[in-house]
Amino acid sequence: MIFDILTLFPAMFASPFEESILGKARARGLVTVRVHNIRDHAEDRHQMADDRPFGGGEGMIMKPEPVVKALEAVRAEGPPAVAVLLSPQGELFSQSLAWEFSRLERLILICGRYEGVDERVVHFVDREVSIGDYILTGGELAAMVVVDAAARLIPGVLGNTASPEAESFREPILEYPQYTRPREFRGLRVPEVLLSGDHEAVRRWRRAEALRRTRIRRPDLFSRLKLSDEDRRLLQA
Ligand code: SAM
Repeated sequence: MIFDILTLFPAMFASPFEESILGKARARGLVTVRVHNIRDHAEDRHQMADDRPFGGGEGMIMKPEPVVKALEAVRAEGPPAVAVLLSPQGELFSQSLAWEFSRLERLILICGRYEGVDERVVHFVDREVSIGDYILTGGELAAMVVVDAAARLIPGVLGNTASPEAESFREPILEYPQYTRPREFRGLRVPEVLLSGDHEAVRRWRRAEALRRTRIRRPDLFSRLKLSDEDRRLLQA
């Protein structure tokens, strides 16, 4: 899968995808991340990519021409792509959106800066996406979040052993608690059932913990969960 990132600050992407799982996925050709400088598409002598807001107000707004020209140039370069404008006003990014993106051949991510992007840019993208109800200084960190969450779902990226299907949010449920060695850490013991070797008991315990945790921490997710008869029994136990 190809990720094309359009930004005014390409240096921010110098290393975040070089380490660990994404680094290996890139080396193996499963993921390609290309970074494009929006300023290269600014037409005036000073390569101005921003200007004052019409109607007055604080800060600067990213001009539409360099952003749209960069988008058109990048779109023309390769396979069909979905273009996303990162924006705090977009649809909320989620695991299901990460799955959707992971199945694309190419995703173009546009990073805003300053007080945001001229509203007319919205007409040239396929969707607007927010990574949460808070304001970042720019879309670069948001783009990194989207790349990371989508890329790890591409077949082969996590290797053969790990299965993202089993993780939180495939079903609207949080994952059960996980433990590793040592069996006791500062007086805190690993739950006995996990040491029992009884796979069925472990499965039931994990399901019950995931259900309880979701009910307490994320009632919004819990209300969307389709409970089986076994789930109801586990919750009553
Ligand atoms: N004035 C804008 C507003 O209130 O909607 C905020 C602009 S923000 C300071 C600058 C850029 O950061 C945005 O254009 C967007 O690309 C990015 N950004 C900020 N918060 C974001 C979020 N929660 N999700 C995605 N992108 C975000």
